[in-house]
Amino acid sequence: MNDEESGVRLNRLKQNEGPALRVLPSVVNDLLKEAEQIFKERGDFTDEILLALHSLFGKPFEKALELLESSCVVYVRCGQGRYVVQVTGSSGTPYTLFPHVNFCSCPAYRYQVISTQKFLTCKHILAARLAEIMQKGRDLSLSVEELTRILCAAVKFDSDGADHDPWSTHLV
Ligand SMILES: [Zn+2]
Repeated sequence: MNDEESGVRLNRLKQNEGPALRVLPSVVNDLLKEAEQIFKERGDFTDEILLALHSLFGKPFEKALELLESSCVVYVRCGQGRYVVQVTGSSGTPYTLFPHVNFCSCPAYRYQVISTQKFLTCKHILAARLAEIMQKGRDLSLSVEELTRILCAAVKFDSDGADHDPWSTHLV
């Protein structure tokens, strides 16, 4: 696939963004796993995988890559194996995510993922997953009490009008 063909293909795919873009979760997971494998082998993404990720996730993928240019992803750890991910968006607001769960309390997730179903996920969730693949996250160790405070704040924020079961959709 040369660059011209990729560009033409990407434009066609971008025009198809919207409610028609419905894919099975397994396709999402397979593509992310493929991207992870490629990055592990080459230390970078190929053009093909970048285009494939963009065609699947759309604008949030572009924005996630922009977010990753700053150190926006922090793994908040507490003891062995327990952690949540905090992604600080362009507005400076940190969003707390559960590892590999496709749910975010940001407005874009609420409107573009849940309500209009324009996109599969938001830039914060993608940034978290990409940071894991690219090993761009920072670690922060907290006490149980501090982590509990973060989780309580996240749940309180999420309960503000969201009628979505965060455990029903997973992003590997
Ligand atoms: Zn979000």
